[in-house]
Amino acid sequence: MSRTVLVVEDERPLAETLRFNLEMEGYRVRTAEDGVEGLSMARALQPDLVLLDLMLPRLDGLDVLRGIREHSQAPVLLLTARTSEADRVRGLDLGADDYITKPFSLAELKARVRVHLRRKQDVTVEERELEFGEFKLDLNRRLLSRDGEPIALRPKEYELLAYLAQRDGRAFTRDQLLNDVWDISFAGGTRTVDVHVRWLRKKIEKPEGPPRHLITVRGAGYRFER
Ligand code: CA
Repeated sequence: MSRTVLVVEDERPLAETLRFNLEMEGYRVRTAEDGVEGLSMARALQPDLVLLDLMLPRLDGLDVLRGIREHSQAPVLLLTARTSEADRVRGLDLGADDYITKPFSLAELKARVRVHLRRKQDVTVEERELEFGEFKLDLNRRLLSRDGEPIALRPKEYELLAYLAQRDGRAFTRDQLLNDVWDISFAGGTRTVDVHVRWLRKKIEKPEGPPRHLITVRGAGYRFER
């Protein structure tokens, strides 16, 4: 079955170019011309991947992203002329999977779309559970639970936790985590890693005492201990 890609882009020539090229790759493509339409189509279509312009009429791209993340874990790739680091960090914190800065090459865009769709597939075919303390991490359903009670995680909180938990005991630098979990690297972006670690600790660590699972490795980064 072909995968559905939703393109939310108000520059019609670019949207049509993207549609044409992605259809040539065998995807089913739908386009939306503004943020409001994009969000409602994302809800209705449940696309496998979303290409989302940041500067959109009626509803800003970041607001669309926030809306999508309320109901979907599908990869979202932001298309942006904005290069400010603050925007990128905000996009990542809201659960974007990748950034593509305009102007971009179509070959690169198609390659990134392929990578993100493949990664999604890898996650869904795996059927594994990791247990630590009173927690269970279901890698198939992307679900963390404590004594059977689900715990709400932001998409990148889940991915960071799953990444570290599957590599139990190994230390990773912030740059490595940014590269492997967010698939991106930029100066200053490592703050995003610290923010997500802090959020995760609130959910899986005891309020007092040193962390038992998400351990800071001095001078290096973080590691996970069962
Ligand atoms: Ca635009």
